[in-house]
Amino acid sequence: MTVTIDDPTEGAQALAEMVAAAETVVVFTGAGISTESGIPDFRGPNGLWKKITPIYYDEFVSSETARLEDWKRRFRFRDQIAAVEPNVAHLAIGRLARAGKVSAVITQNIDGLHQRAGVPDDRLIEIHGNATFATCLDCGARHELDEAEAIIAASGRTPRCVCGGLVKAAVISFGQAMPVREMERAEAALQEADLFLAVGSSLTVQPAASLPMIAKYQGARLVIVNGEETPLDHLADRVLRGSIGTVFSAL
Ligand code: NAD
Ligand code: ZN
Repeated sequence: MTVTIDDPTEGAQALAEMVAAAETVVVFTGAGISTESGIPDFRGPNGLWKKITPIYYDEFVSSETARLEDWKRRFRFRDQIAAVEPNVAHLAIGRLARAGKVSAVITQNIDGLHQRAGVPDDRLIEIHGNATFATCLDCGARHELDEAEAIIAASGRTPRCVCGGLVKAAVISFGQAMPVREMERAEAALQEADLFLAVGSSLTVQPAASLPMIAKYQGARLVIVNGEETPLDHLADRVLRGSIGTVFSAL
């Protein structure tokens, strides 16, 4: 049976107790964990989808105009994340991951704030990639955003790899295939969990919508921390509403 706690201070107490009682916690995060650091989400009340339309993978591959616009957004996002700091929720998760209590942090975020809050690389699974660097779509070689910016400034053209492939920010765009290795790591992590925390995700797109379900069916307790209702609330043992920063303040 789902217990919903609307008061975030009470939620903080409940979260601390459930984490203390758990053996192995897997944390799943969405854009909502970073809004209190100053990075807007997509689908929340002040979400970006109310202001811009996404660029799909196929458009990026087929249109230089779309690529120039995509890069412009990437450089803006790079500057935005450089100007903010991990918040209390990122820091609490970072501490728990270093202590071994949190065995994996699976994130949809591309902002690098979990790394900056000290989650070790071998415990971090970025299923939508990372916006702080770029890769070649053909050979996978790493490229730097600053380098791409200089090329565009000098030539007006978007960068190509030495192999001839298109270079793109290392994130999964809409319409792009999910990374196989990261998804395998995520599924392996779920098998160990006796507590699954879904934090700041609207849980409406795949695989966000299915990971909490899989964890639950595998026997983990499910806690959803979010300001709004999600379609999976009815499956959760606890739904903790309100500001994520407040709900994580007792950890
Ligand atoms: P979303 O935007 O769909 O949903 C975020 C959820 O968090 C919403 O339900 C919102 O109500 C809730 N929320 C926002 N701030 C909150 C707060 N302070 N306290 C409590 N709840 C809060 O996010 P999503 O499901 O993660 O999907 C967005 C997609 O866009 C992701 O796949 C991600 O790759 C990408 N994205 C990433 C970032 C980032 O890296 N920071 C930012 C925007 C979008
Ligand atoms: Zn290449």
